[in-house]
Amino acid sequence: MSESDSTKSSAEPAEPAAMSNAETTPASNAKSTEASNARSTHSLEDHQFGPVTVLFGEKQGKYPQGNSLLIRGSRETVLIDPSLGVIPRRHSLPPIDRLLFSHCHEDHISGAYLFPEIPWHFHELDLPGIQSLEAMMAIYGFPEPTHSYFSKQVVEQFHFKARPDAEGFRDGDVFDLGGVRVHVIHAPGHTRGHCCFLIESGLNPDSSPDSNRDWDRDSGPDERFLFLGDIDLSSFGPYYGDAWADLEDFERTLERLRGIEARWYGTFHHIGVLDREAFLDRLARFVSAIGRREQGLLSYLAEAHDLDEIAAQNFVYSRGKIPTSDAAERRSMIQHVERLVRSGTLRETSPGRWIRTKAA
Ligand SMILES: [Zn+2]
Repeated sequence: MSESDSTKSSAEPAEPAAMSNAETTPASNAKSTEASNARSTHSLEDHQFGPVTVLFGEKQGKYPQGNSLLIRGSRETVLIDPSLGVIPRRHSLPPIDRLLFSHCHEDHISGAYLFPEIPWHFHELDLPGIQSLEAMMAIYGFPEPTHSYFSKQVVEQFHFKARPDAEGFRDGDVFDLGGVRVHVIHAPGHTRGHCCFLIESGLNPDSSPDSNRDWDRDSGPDERFLFLGDIDLSSFGPYYGDAWADLEDFERTLERLRGIEARWYGTFHHIGVLDREAFLDRLARFVSAIGRREQGLLSYLAEAHDLDEIAAQNFVYSRGKIPTSDAAERRSMIQHVERLVRSGTLRETSPGRWIRTKAA
């Protein structure tokens, strides 16, 4: 889920999915043959970035759509985060050997049902979510009536299909496709098992990834594409509003990602594909949303308030609400409250009411 995308639909115009930078704007002749074929049956765009074909969703992947990745090596072809945009492309895709998922949220699994015969892979911490609908709903942790409303959406709009035999991966695992490798980077915070994938090409197809797992020694940054999943770099900022989300994990993840050098940085949603300079710029703004929310909270707690009152201030959903946003607002803000209590910046005046201990 990326609630940010539906939230900001009226507040921020859609940006080009591939920023107008000479480095990252694909030349028309770089588009794949599949892309040309695909255009004959639907209007969605495919663009090639090194080893990666980005299958853009409608509105450049704005939620509930998303941008999926098709990656072909000499031995295997994988699809990452099959979104709603995969469905109209299903007759023009090459044979797919396996599906990889950045995390178990509805918009990232919605095209997966088309591939019941091939292995599906999730980080082991998100794996339970695909094994049953109830486990998937536990990741969000919505109270009723949101729980019932949203589980219906997950099945009807996002085609949830339980896959009890899905397989787990861990940080550092490598999928070797033959000349192209996909490295797993555990990037928790959005969900417990959220991962990014670093895709590198230009490799000797016969070399073994096991003896050389560090991508810094495998290829130069010019051959690398970092897929960011739902670290979506939107102006909304990080989404850590689910039961399985964690603000401080998210902050550590953002710090780690900043240090990973690649030529291309791709988000699942509409920000699209950026070069390193644009990535660092967007990342800084993305991070700053956390501080903005926390400063808003601290100013408000010059007087004591409880969580209902804090949530009503919309420090997270400042630009309008969607059906699941009340729960997400509360879950986000309680994490800020808890860490400010731990640091001594807030104190509890009576059970469930907090006040600032010093001037903001
Ligand atoms: Zn998500």
